[in-house]
Amino acid sequence: MTDAYLGLGANLGDRLATLSQALRLVDELPGTHVVYVSAVYETEPWGVADQPDFANLVAQIRTSLAADQLLGGLQDIENSLGRVRGERYGARTIDIDILLFGDEEWNSDSLTIPHPRLLEREFALVPLLEIAPDACLPDGSPFPREGAVHGRITRTLGALPGFEDRAVIPAAFASESYPTEGAEWVEVASSTPVGRIDRAPDLELLFLQSVLEAEGIPFAYDPFAPTESFNPWGLTRTVRLLVPPLYAERARRLLAQAAAATPEFPQQ
Ligand code: ADP
Ligand code: MG
Repeated sequence: MTDAYLGLGANLGDRLATLSQALRLVDELPGTHVVYVSAVYETEPWGVADQPDFANLVAQIRTSLAADQLLGGLQDIENSLGRVRGERYGARTIDIDILLFGDEEWNSDSLTIPHPRLLEREFALVPLLEIAPDACLPDGSPFPREGAVHGRITRTLGALPGFEDRAVIPAAFASESYPTEGAEWVEVASSTPVGRIDRAPDLELLFLQSVLEAEGIPFAYDPFAPTESFNPWGLTRTVRLLVPPLYAERARRLLAQAAAATPEFPQQ
């Protein structure tokens, strides 16, 4: 299985409906699942200036296909959605590009990965980093953001209809008005009560903590979890993990996935 990132763009017709339909079809490709979907960003046309604004997004998929097989599937989807190949960089119903494919590099006539213009396109880099803040180039180096000067983002259009459940940033926050400062942290996990000899709370906590750490999600412990005050003997103590609201949905999803993948681990 490979984690890959797709860049989608549309600037003709009902752009959101087309993007949504395209991702549904990607989800139906053999051995392929759409994991996360960025907010939709409206962007200035690039390349050919005199055309409508684009709606762009980036999706993370997990696939058992090889990159060239995936490209074939994506081109079939483009064609089935009525894309007519005209002017290069010109207006299109739908464009689906493979931005990254695991840590693989491809350099054939029909396929270049990482996508050769990823680093210069704001509409590709910003949504990519929204859903994968730790993404890096195949050689492990981070993305330089200052080169992304083409295809500038003008506003966000919120979560993609039909894929709200796969947003990393909850739709309500996917706008420039999202308050990044002064927001309270929210609970994403509360661990086994500390003090029960038959459990391994410290291990569980370390485990949950490592899941968040691995994804670069900031977290803190709530030192005043509610059961504390009911237990003056200190026999049980619930410890809660807090993350900034921006990360809450993603953190909960990751912790649930991790718990499901580790059934032998003490459950609450
Ligand atoms: P663009 O996306 O650059 O505006 P097209 O969508 O018309 O242009 O694609 C032109 C060709 O780009 C396709 O025929 C495809 O073979 C090639 N290509 C090379 N690398 C990639 C990639 N990483 N993702 C998608 N297409 C690619
Ligand atoms: Mg393309």
